[in-house]
Amino acid sequence: FGGVVKEPPMHIVHISVEMAPIAKVGGLGDVVTSLSRAVQDMNHHVDIILPKYDCLKLNNMEDFQFHKSYSWGGTEIKVWLGKVEGLHVYFLEPQNGFFSAGCIYGRRNDGERFGFFCHASLEFLLQSGFHPDIIHCHDWSSAPVAWLYKEHYRHYGLNKARVVFTIHNLEFGASLIGKAMQYSDKATTVSPTYSQEVSGNPVIASHLYKFHGILNGIDQDIWDPYNDKFIPLSYTSENVVEGKRAAKEALQQRLGLKKADLPLVGIITRLTHQKGIHLIKHSIWHTLERSGQVVLLGSAPDPRIQNDFVNLANQLHSSHNDRARLCLTYDEPLSHLIYAGADFILVPSIFEPCGLTQLIAMRYGSIAVVRKTGGG
Ligand code: ADP
Repeated sequence: FGGVVKEPPMHIVHISVEMAPIAKVGGLGDVVTSLSRAVQDMNHHVDIILPKYDCLKLNNMEDFQFHKSYSWGGTEIKVWLGKVEGLHVYFLEPQNGFFSAGCIYGRRNDGERFGFFCHASLEFLLQSGFHPDIIHCHDWSSAPVAWLYKEHYRHYGLNKARVVFTIHNLEFGASLIGKAMQYSDKATTVSPTYSQEVSGNPVIASHLYKFHGILNGIDQDIWDPYNDKFIPLSYTSENVVEGKRAAKEALQQRLGLKKADLPLVGIITRLTHQKGIHLIKHSIWHTLERSGQVVLLGSAPDPRIQNDFVNLANQLHSSHNDRARLCLTYDEPLSHLIYAGADFILVPSIFEPCGLTQLIAMRYGSIAVVRKTGGG
């Protein structure tokens, strides 16, 4: 479209609990940022509403300032405004401490916290006199926006909006997703294949007339080996060999691995069943047997899985200290260095709605080793 808008500009508001790179857990965070940037480039007006987590990565924020405060739900809610990757973001900070939990997900009351956030977001739009054309919500975590808008806020004066709901992963919170499917005007998911895979699911089946699979992409300016502050040498397809060699050396240096020109397999993932944990473990051993190096960057929401990998890390760091490194954490800058420095990026998912990891790998000239899962 080249930035040409055929219709008049629209005002689009995303209500989301993740946004890359300041509050990202997985692909949902990437998509909220990249989709918003793409739509804003077409001259539409895009705003994002996000919880003000205590764990926000504030160093990625520009012009961060206090905006206003309002009362709702028995508490004061402070609103902060900032710019992230060129996008306007409103941060809601309820004074009841809901988002001072040190994490995005993983508290026993996640449903309550995010339900509160959805309600508070609509209240913010109402009290600010905003009249968005589209309110876009995502997955189970902001699904309540769909029915809170249709049952309440539409009648209170926020009457212009249509609700778009996107399913990034149907595995979590199917009942909430089903309800949002019912109340939304349009529903999308992250690839045509996944839309077919889930079309028989009872929470989707009766809404197929308004359900579309739209293939995800990555933001090529955010994931760009020619312009990436986390890698040592800028590269394009012209100097990919030198660029990747420099990145591999920097990665080996940073992680204390042997500086040698060995095949390096990178794994960047949430460590959950979906991502093929047994295949990941198998590939680690297989790579080491074949004299390669392995770097895994991942963290597990389930403490038992995290513990299992801590044990594996201890074992590998003593048996193969110069060829294996397991970094059991979330680290955006390190992920860039791995995408650039690895020869292969392994994505052995059991199922994948779309998957961004393999797309980023290819953008950095790494060979994506994947299972045929559908998705993207
Ligand atoms: P999902 O959304 O199911 O986690 P995707 O492949 O769609 O899977 O997106 C994963 C995104 O999260 C990618 O941008 C990937 O680089 C990033 N990511 C996953 N785990 C980590 C981690 N431990 N540290 C940094 N980035 C990570």
